[in-house]
Amino acid sequence: MDFLAAVTDVVGPANALTSIDDVAPYAVDWRGSYRGTPLAVLRPGTTQEVSDLVKRCADAQIAIVPAGGRTGLSGGAVPSANGPPSVVLSLERMNRVRAIDPRDFSIVAEAGCVVQSIQQAAADVERLFPIQWGAQGTAQIGGMLSTNAGGIRTLRYGNARELVLGLEVVLPDGRILDDLRRVRKDNSGYALRHLFIGGEGTLGVITAAAMRLQPALKRVETAFVAVPTPDAALSLFGRMMESGADVIAFELCGRYCMEMAARHGVGLRMPLPLDSPWFVMVELAAAHASIPLREIMEDALAAAMEAGDVSDAAIADSEAQRRMIWKIREDYPECSRKDSAAVSTDTAVPVSAVPEFLRMVERDLIARWPEGRISAIGHAGDGNIHVSLHAPHGMTDRPAWFARAGEAEAMVNAIAVSLGGSFSAEHGIGQSKRHAMATHKDAVAMDVMRMVKTALDPDGRMNPGKILP
Ligand SMILES: Cc1cc2nc3c(=O)[nH]c(=O)nc-3n(C[C@H](O)[C@H](O)[C@H](O)COP(=O)(O)OP(=O)(O)OC[C@H]3O[C@@H](n4cnc5c(N)ncnc54)[C@H](O)[C@@H]3O)c2cc1C
Repeated sequence: MDFLAAVTDVVGPANALTSIDDVAPYAVDWRGSYRGTPLAVLRPGTTQEVSDLVKRCADAQIAIVPAGGRTGLSGGAVPSANGPPSVVLSLERMNRVRAIDPRDFSIVAEAGCVVQSIQQAAADVERLFPIQWGAQGTAQIGGMLSTNAGGIRTLRYGNARELVLGLEVVLPDGRILDDLRRVRKDNSGYALRHLFIGGEGTLGVITAAAMRLQPALKRVETAFVAVPTPDAALSLFGRMMESGADVIAFELCGRYCMEMAARHGVGLRMPLPLDSPWFVMVELAAAHASIPLREIMEDALAAAMEAGDVSDAAIADSEAQRRMIWKIREDYPECSRKDSAAVSTDTAVPVSAVPEFLRMVERDLIARWPEGRISAIGHAGDGNIHVSLHAPHGMTDRPAWFARAGEAEAMVNAIAVSLGGSFSAEHGIGQSKRHAMATHKDAVAMDVMRMVKTALDPDGRMNPGKILP
């Protein structure tokens, strides 16, 4: 039996896609920056089928590129253009919630569950699945875990890694690693799950995860705030953190980002005039309805205004207004994509260093590319700021702008690292940041990573060309 017949035998013809039209969506990444040519797209429906497919790929020496919702921003879910023959293994059909227990605040979900559906499943039993970001309606649990996604609530609940109790993983040799425990405490040796979380499919295929839930939020207050400087935003952050409420989101947005959102967003209404250089979106929450959150928010904002840290603020008066604030934030990446070609970054620095980081970035980028336009937006409450250098108005030729300004990424990364930060905060390495690994990652860490990779995947068949330079 040839290879395609062997894998079709496992999943059936309807789930072994080979026609150009069927394969096309899996052959390009969200940004349109990376393209590959998979032999087929395989869509298993069970863990056993994943295991059987992985074994048949091993027999035929075919590489495997796992794919979730394909919203990743580093080109991880697309076969490398010059890589070995490969298939895309899409987990989309594995979308069952296997168990949910509000008493022990846990959920066991298959890798192909869309993140938003897990938020809903948790809400249905009065619990919160706290991960939230713009692509949650498409991204899947497997992709979320494999990139160790962050989002707007990392500040309060941690990134994806911190939610995981246990994992089920198909290893590169096809064996099933069943570590799907729902307990918080398990010190029985190495915590293997952490190798696969953030592993971007290079060590195995995540098929299911046991994850922690939180108490449902009974009260939420959200404000859109104009601040004069990032330093003022940092002072406001301190006030909010000391306010006694849970600060579940604290986003810093440059005016240029808000202008792009206003220009390209569909149905977006800005809560304030865009006449401030910086804006903050802040959300306070409580798991009990009696907490006077509105008062806490108003007091903190009034004190910040008094101190000159806030020039204007709009507190959402309704759920619709609250949703509008987050829609602006969540729709921003798409608006930015529509606006112009941009060299983008995914850096993190200590929260206290955010203002200095932004000063250094602006100074150095403007000095080198005075014709470029800088946008900065991010999860300031956890120090993760996305800086982009956009092409001048009217310049839509992406490759031309990258040829001219591509080095901006290395410049921004170097500034973040010099301030004690990271060049890869939440999007992963994929294909796009492999060169930065070579520059910034500790040599011993790289050596250990290679040893782990070789031990688990000696033939290098799991997502080749990703993470390791
Ligand atoms: C509009 C927009 C906003 C975003 N905002 C944020 C944000 O705020 N924070 C953030 O962290 N990210 C953000 N992202 C990036 C992206 O949504 C996340 O990286 C997400 O976690 C990717 O999930 P996915 O299912 O789409 O994964 P994919 O893109 O399909 O895959 C990502 C990586 O995981 C691997 N993978 C996928 N599934 C599995 C599996 N089951 N087993 C093993 N490996 C697997 C793939 O091979 C690939 O390397 C945003 C993206 C968009 C488009």
